[in-house]
Amino acid sequence: MTKFSDLALSPKVLKAVEAAGYETPTPIQAGAIPAALEGKDVLGIAQTGTGKTASFTLPMIHMLARGRARARMPRSLVLCPTRELAAQVAENFDTYAQNVRLSKALLIGGVSFKEQDILIDKGVDVLIATPGRLLDHFERGKLLLTGIEVMVVDEADRMLDMGFIPDIERIFSLTPFTRQTLFFSATMAPEIERITNTFLSNPARVEVARQATASETIAQEVILVKGSRRDRVAKDKRDVLRAVIDREGDACSNAIVFCNRKTDVDIVAKSLKRHGYDAAPIHGDLDQSQRTRTLDAFREGELRFLVASDVAARGLDVPSVSHVFNYDVPSHSEDYVHRIGRTGRAGREGKAVMISAPIDGKNLDAIEKLIAKEIPRTENPLAGREEEVSEVSEEKPKRTRRTRSRKSEDQVEAPVQAEATEEERPKRSRGGRGRRDRDSGPKVVGMGDHMPSFIAMSFEERKAG
Ligand code: AMP
Repeated sequence: MTKFSDLALSPKVLKAVEAAGYETPTPIQAGAIPAALEGKDVLGIAQTGTGKTASFTLPMIHMLARGRARARMPRSLVLCPTRELAAQVAENFDTYAQNVRLSKALLIGGVSFKEQDILIDKGVDVLIATPGRLLDHFERGKLLLTGIEVMVVDEADRMLDMGFIPDIERIFSLTPFTRQTLFFSATMAPEIERITNTFLSNPARVEVARQATASETIAQEVILVKGSRRDRVAKDKRDVLRAVIDREGDACSNAIVFCNRKTDVDIVAKSLKRHGYDAAPIHGDLDQSQRTRTLDAFREGELRFLVASDVAARGLDVPSVSHVFNYDVPSHSEDYVHRIGRTGRAGREGKAVMISAPIDGKNLDAIEKLIAKEIPRTENPLAGREEEVSEVSEEKPKRTRRTRSRKSEDQVEAPVQAEATEEERPKRSRGGRGRRDRDSGPKVVGMGDHMPSFIAMSFEERKAG
């Protein structure tokens, strides 16, 4: 087995790795680091959770230790699809570069241009950016990319999903062709293949096992929710979610709850809070300081439930999540693999529970096809209760209508239709697949989440008057 000391990294970098508590390199690190240190381009096909961040930060720190940054001409560039991922990469640099002097700047939306300009003016060794923000700086004439020695594209498949590929191509063309490129993607879609063929030169290809096969430590289950009535499915799912959390008890130390849409992220987080669960939402519409606060609290163990959309949770480095709850079945099956990959990391045990409504059947099939196994069905902890509720609401509508003034959790206001945040919204994309706007479905009016309270009331509540 390869050891870190076999990887030709400098003693200062090795010391930081040791301080981080890593004993052996992960497969992507063992494959990518030697090639990167030789100056080769690297095409890393690996998902988050495989240790891919260190597989490019460690060799970069080693290589950048020699030489000095010049004003407005960063020496290296790391492109990330989201602010959170960029911030995490920056943290990785802080951890691994603790014994060397490297300057860095983080160019992400939600941070003032002025502060970022000051850093760039001084000269930085490492620039970590989301594509939109980077091009904004470039267009303001504050930044030159002609000094880039190493360029990293992280999570290229997510860039493609978000419509960033034209931006990436433009950024590639602004950097010198002599640069070294380290390119990471979980999958190799044809568009990604095209980009790598165009911009990478004879890369060392390092492919690590898909997480679908590496996730043997994750116990998976799916609960089929019939929905007592079609218009009550969302409420039933929230009830089931709480029942499952209760069922898991203390074994559930912390969890990420995934929803497909931003509106549901808000609703589910509010609903959990209302029922006394320690939960907070994270999605692209929340301001940056709030997102950072929520994430920090979750990382520090001060927040038990993080309710998230796929985009916001992408690449989050939260090492010890005991559970992942899929409040929704993801409509893109590869997202399932990403989601459940937040638990059971680095060989730890993890549990992933998904709630599936009748409408999700097709997506559930697609997921099982992708992971090539059937996800065990477990009993709905509220089975039986669904039937009771449906019978009563159909039999006694008049009586319950009189109690309309009573509050129920379903009166939670759905926020106005969500918009993409600055760097999540590609401004310049003309080609590519275009952004998949999964988070912002049509606003539900009439029934759905705006249903009158008497429908939302539980059987017990109604019996109690
Ligand atoms: P990443 O795939 O970069 O998001 O990393 C996933 C997690 O693995 C992070 O929490 C890292 O701190 C951790 N990690 C990275 N490299 C190693 C290693 N060689 N040994 C143990 N943990 C690691």
